[in-house]
Amino acid sequence: MAAKPGMDPPVHCGVSPAAEPAAPLYKRVAVNAPTGGIEIQAIDAPRLRLRVRGQVQGVGFRPHLWRLATRANLSGFAVNDQDGVLMEVQGAGVACFLDDLISSPPPLARIDAVEQLGQCPALAEERRFVIRDSIAAGPARTAIGPDIATCPACLAELFDPANRRHLYPFITCTQCGPRFTITRRLPYDRATTSMAPFPLCNACAAEYADPADRRFHAETTCCPACGPRLEMPVAEIATRLLAGKIVALKGLGGFHLLCDARDDNPVRRLRSRKHRDGKPFAVMVPNLATARRFAILHDAAAAILQHRASPVVVLPAQPRHPLAEGVSNGLPTIGLFLPYTPLHWLVIWELLGRPAGVDWMSEATDLALVATSANRSGEPIVISGTEAREDLAGIADAIADHDRPIVTRADDSVVRVVAGAPAFIRRARGFTPISIRLARDLPPVAALGALLKTTVTVIRGREAFVSQHVGDLDTPAAAAFLETTLHHLLETLDVAPVAVACDLHPDFASTRLAHRLGLPVWPVQHHHAHIAALAAEHGIDGPLLGLALDGFGLGPDGAAWGGELLCIDGEYCERLGHLATLPTPGGDRAAREPWRMAAAALHAMGRAGEIERRFATEPLASSVRNLLSRGVACPPTSSAGRWFDAAAGLLGVSHRQCFEGEAAMRLEALVTETAVLADGWRVTHGVLDLLPLLCRLADGMPRADGAALFHGTLIAALIAWVADAAAARGVRTVALGGGCFLNQVVTEGLVAGLTARGLLPLIARAVPPNDGGLSLGQAFIVASTLANGRTREEIGPCVSQFR
Ligand SMILES: [Zn+2]
Ligand SMILES: [Zn+2]
Ligand SMILES: [Zn+2]
Repeated sequence: MAAKPGMDPPVHCGVSPAAEPAAPLYKRVAVNAPTGGIEIQAIDAPRLRLRVRGQVQGVGFRPHLWRLATRANLSGFAVNDQDGVLMEVQGAGVACFLDDLISSPPPLARIDAVEQLGQCPALAEERRFVIRDSIAAGPARTAIGPDIATCPACLAELFDPANRRHLYPFITCTQCGPRFTITRRLPYDRATTSMAPFPLCNACAAEYADPADRRFHAETTCCPACGPRLEMPVAEIATRLLAGKIVALKGLGGFHLLCDARDDNPVRRLRSRKHRDGKPFAVMVPNLATARRFAILHDAAAAILQHRASPVVVLPAQPRHPLAEGVSNGLPTIGLFLPYTPLHWLVIWELLGRPAGVDWMSEATDLALVATSANRSGEPIVISGTEAREDLAGIADAIADHDRPIVTRADDSVVRVVAGAPAFIRRARGFTPISIRLARDLPPVAALGALLKTTVTVIRGREAFVSQHVGDLDTPAAAAFLETTLHHLLETLDVAPVAVACDLHPDFASTRLAHRLGLPVWPVQHHHAHIAALAAEHGIDGPLLGLALDGFGLGPDGAAWGGELLCIDGEYCERLGHLATLPTPGGDRAAREPWRMAAAALHAMGRAGEIERRFATEPLASSVRNLLSRGVACPPTSSAGRWFDAAAGLLGVSHRQCFEGEAAMRLEALVTETAVLADGWRVTHGVLDLLPLLCRLADGMPRADGAALFHGTLIAALIAWVADAAAARGVRTVALGGGCFLNQVVTEGLVAGLTARGLLPLIARAVPPNDGGLSLGQAFIVASTLANGRTREEIGPCVSQFR
């Protein structure tokens, strides 16, 4: 078999490979993922030395190999090393064995490649297939698995009174339990995790060593005799919750704050103690049947709710659901997730009054618990008992800790169903650190995101590793978490980056960190990076159109951008057009106070005289009018987010917002059907102006009608604008990126409309469309630019080469 580019030199087993390889006995090509591929060719050799690359450690891969090899009567061995799994197999059934391996890998595994490293002479004495201890030498080429929700087999044991792990809160196996959040470095073995201080008892050691046992080589396995312990009995946790208390419970990637979601009092108290004015709380429900009592669940939503990563799924709420009003705070959606640790299950079992048997696990109840990340406002999620006692004093009434340390913080992931499939709002626990396959090998680069919803991305070869959600970098603690995340990722991947990518904005904590690393710093324009994230994820190499609808990003002209029609190709970026600019009276304050954007729109329409009357409750209404008329402290922005704010402000949907995108969310929530105002927009020299639409909204109409007209007209205008550019450029692929694509109505409307025009819209599936996906785009641009042979000197102050 010919060596692939970038493949390790063949390793020989004492003899040289035959000069003339025998005719292939076995050949198969299987395609995996949009950009990846499995390509194997095994030749007729007495004994094969193979390497499996991909997500193959910590997922029960070697036991799976053992079962397949034993069934096929093969002998040999398998070992974890820095590149994945290395094995040697011999016997007549090799072809069947490889076929089985590729067609049915273990559920949690992802095979990216099976490579033949050489042929070896048969070992006549060998009778069995064995699993060897890991090899730790050399640089890492593989990855740790993500954390996985408790599997059905472990759940059955947890509630089986005859099982020795009956009611044990740390039950796990090769198919479930903590991984990423407890692993310090590679290779993934008990000794490199926070389970290292818990030596296996005899019973656990016997299971661990028995290839027929489902805990064979389960690195996190333990039992009441040898494993971690809970500090507070589960019964006591349940008693406090039923008494209306707020309990901080240690989970996989951090502590949750739990309280009864049906009881107004603790929910209100939690909201005021966390200073979390508007954001909805996530809710844990025992099962799908219960979830249906609170939310409307279609098939795709039910599937992702039950996914082994167990994300929070944002769903349309049932019209009269029995949860406390403060949970969703007026939004018609609700974020639900299912229990994902044995401890969650035990708390639910106690709250349900210790039901017998297993039927209760799938029966509908009215039980629902608020389960929100435990942190001080603006700070990262709390992971240790010490942090919890310090940071959560005054928020939690009780702290339920245990002695299995969390190594790495990871919030819950949040998804919703968009255009029939799940899309990320936040990507963290359960998905990190699964890599995103790129279309080609790229140089090692790290990227640090921007300011809000930050993540880190590290590129290694053909894979991009996007970190868990780090969050907004408003506090020193958050900035420190960004730095820790970068170093943990570089360490676990064993990557030495040759460059670091950051935002063009010089004052973000991420940009400042980039300059402290002692590496060449490559700033990337914000919206160029949004569109490049889609190019990376979808394996696009070559020109594509990008529609970036976003909140804020610095343009190369120093202006605030955020509604951009781009054509990108690697580091090249062309601004084909943008949304008409609106003044932002008071600068940053305008982003928090939609009434100011409504005032700006009125001013632009020549109706500034209406500002004081319309916003009579705003004490600063007349000074805002004054700023607008004098053009002082009103920097212009092309941000799509500010156009949403202006519409929400004009319709009286939202005067102020407590979190980014709140006004747009409340506006979207009013939409049942959309309507189009045919003359609601105009395009002049590539600039799309929606002022005629806002003018119509300002004339007055019911809020729901206004929301329908705004969304419908915006979608129609964008489709026409993009389709014209696509025709002019002869480009069919259109990437939709930026925070406004969290809006389901706009995203689905554009996908349908652009598809109907014969275009290929791309939406974010592997990372969030908002700034959570930005680091992927930044890393991809810089690594591609390096791969194309460009130097830092040629590039100048900004990687994005605008023309
Ligand atoms: Zn399990
Ligand atoms: Zn044990
Ligand atoms: Zn952005």
